[in-house]
Amino acid sequence: MIIILKQNPATKQLESLKEWIRQMGLDIHVSEGTHATILGLVGDTSVVDIDLIGAMEIVDKVQRIQEPYKAANRKFHPDDTIISFDALSGSPAKVGGGNFVMIAGPCSVESRPQIMEIAEKVKESGAGALRGGAFKPRTSPYAFQGMEAEGIKLLLEAKKQTGLPIVTEIMDMSQMHHFDDVDVIQVGARNMQNFLMLKELGKTKKPILLKRGFSSTIQELLMSAEYILSGGNPNVILCERGIRTIETATRNTLDLSAIPVIKEHSHLPVIVDPSHATGHAKYVPSMSLAAVAAGADGLMIEVHNNPSMALCDGQQSITPEAFDRLAKSVHTIRTGMEQAGR
Ligand code: PEP
Ligand code: MN
Repeated sequence: MIIILKQNPATKQLESLKEWIRQMGLDIHVSEGTHATILGLVGDTSVVDIDLIGAMEIVDKVQRIQEPYKAANRKFHPDDTIISFDALSGSPAKVGGGNFVMIAGPCSVESRPQIMEIAEKVKESGAGALRGGAFKPRTSPYAFQGMEAEGIKLLLEAKKQTGLPIVTEIMDMSQMHHFDDVDVIQVGARNMQNFLMLKELGKTKKPILLKRGFSSTIQELLMSAEYILSGGNPNVILCERGIRTIETATRNTLDLSAIPVIKEHSHLPVIVDPSHATGHAKYVPSMSLAAVAAGADGLMIEVHNNPSMALCDGQQSITPEAFDRLAKSVHTIRTGMEQAGR
């Protein structure tokens, strides 16, 4: 980080700024030019409040050279993080470092027959994990809110029957006692910046699937991951699920460039959710393949056995048959990429 000072800064203020920086455990490299004095801060600047320094009377500008996240930063952890889903299920599914996973299932668990049938079918097609919402964050309080605890029980039954690890969303830490046997805890887009919850999830060791907020930057996503990682939980999977733009033809705009950008700056696995990104079942296959080609470590896809009757997100859910075809195309693309050394 560099701090550019205004001309002729008051000595007293400059000395107290330097003292404050040193108290944060940082060294200072001073370079005095004819027009300006620049302070170069050396050390871990992730603890420094850039806005606070920028607001000081003697400061002209502050610039970060290093990213404000450390645990999520590839500079400090060059190897890809690999996350296994095996702790509770014994499943071989892994994500990151060349391991690819398909997470599939309905937006919401609706009934025993529904989740059992979908679980069996997506497993046959090669899914590595089953998704299904039990606690649902809905825009309208009048919409179906999920089966809650009963939904988690049904997911656990489906896991027992198929061996697939389960992924389901937590909306509040008061629900945590329902998640003891859940393999991967999802933090939804709307909760990406629920910092108190992220801190609590940092105290567990369970894999956390952290979805990007629809109005959040990539850096903000990485800072949210940092909350979980710095709390002591290294198992964070990032998920690009589309962001809000001026475009209305799709529910969100899938930011595929997030994949290479995150991979450059972070070692964490990145998966893509083309269902919430596009909002239309017909666009899901093409965007899934594009995500694979762009280097995603996995996909999370909404699959429903009867999309037109789904209680939530039916319009963007593909059928188990369409998922089967998609899984084959994903395999073809991945094989081609491997042969091309990508
Ligand atoms: C979901 O995965 O069902 C969901 C609600 O997604 P998001 O948080 O990305 O909107
Ligand atoms: Mn959904």
